[in-house]
Amino acid sequence: MKVRADVAEMLRAGVPHSRIARELGVSQGTVRRTNHALGLPAPLRGGRPSRYPTLVAVFRGNSEETEDGHVRWTGYRDASSNTPLLFYAGEKTPAPKAAFQLHYGREPIGKPLPTCGMTGCIAGAHLADRPMREANARADAAYDAIFGALSTNDEPPQGT
Ligand SMILES: [Zn+2]
Repeated sequence: MKVRADVAEMLRAGVPHSRIARELGVSQGTVRRTNHALGLPAPLRGGRPSRYPTLVAVFRGNSEETEDGHVRWTGYRDASSNTPLLFYAGEKTPAPKAAFQLHYGREPIGKPLPTCGMTGCIAGAHLADRPMREANARADAAYDAIFGALSTNDEPPQGT
């Protein structure tokens, strides 16, 4: 049979068959046959994504650490927005949000964005949400207010 790349990709990401069928507009039979053609294990009954036991495992199974300590998403991406998506317990979560939650133990406020300079990095420790970015901006402003003058001229500090 002809295997559709998008179906195959979602199957490998552990997306439930019913969701693949619904999102891609194919029949569940097509999804099942693709699953079989790819040699993937049959899903457990109940429709729950069962290939991965925990959110951490799903995350690790769809990402890889680079040599310099960043993390790159290797899993499924939304076809139109290119957002990396993680499928877990019937939910679809943007991978950066999941990475943030796993690292900080709370939901991000606003979008978690990498602060390390690597585009698309999803290492938990490299992500900052809106309050963290605002705190960093305030710290930068305070730093500039205190030290900014010294960094822009060569006068020695006063009071010495
Ligand atoms: Zn990084």
